[in-house]
Amino acid sequence: MNIFEKLGSELNELGKKSKDMIEIMNLKTEYSQLENEKYIKLAKLGSLVYQTYNTDDFDHQILIKFCKEINELEKQMKKINKNIARMQLQEIICPNCGTRMAPEFIFCSNCGQKLHGENEQDKE
Ligand SMILES: [Zn+2]
Repeated sequence: MNIFEKLGSELNELGKKSKDMIEIMNLKTEYSQLENEKYIKLAKLGSLVYQTYNTDDFDHQILIKFCKEINELEKQMKKINKNIARMQLQEIICPNCGTRMAPEFIFCSNCGQKLHGENEQDKE
């Protein structure tokens, strides 16, 4: 393998890694959107429950409908979380500030901490 071939394969590897990172970011965005949706539904459900307290003839079907929708959101959120966890196996976490990065980083992109230290665990 000559130097250019070697460089090419390393760049491919980097390209794949940053694609993974973008995908994780997208999954996290999707997750927080679902989370927002869930909170909105929970708030609506709460006010509907409050209405049932003040009225005698309230349609409970609508409460069940809301609960089912929230369950469905929970299911989707769990699925996304699983995917994120699977992809994050390839990540390393800065021991100093907790920033997550791809393992090819040598220094933390946030605080500059050396990530693949020798044997020293804690450096003041
Ligand atoms: Zn750091």
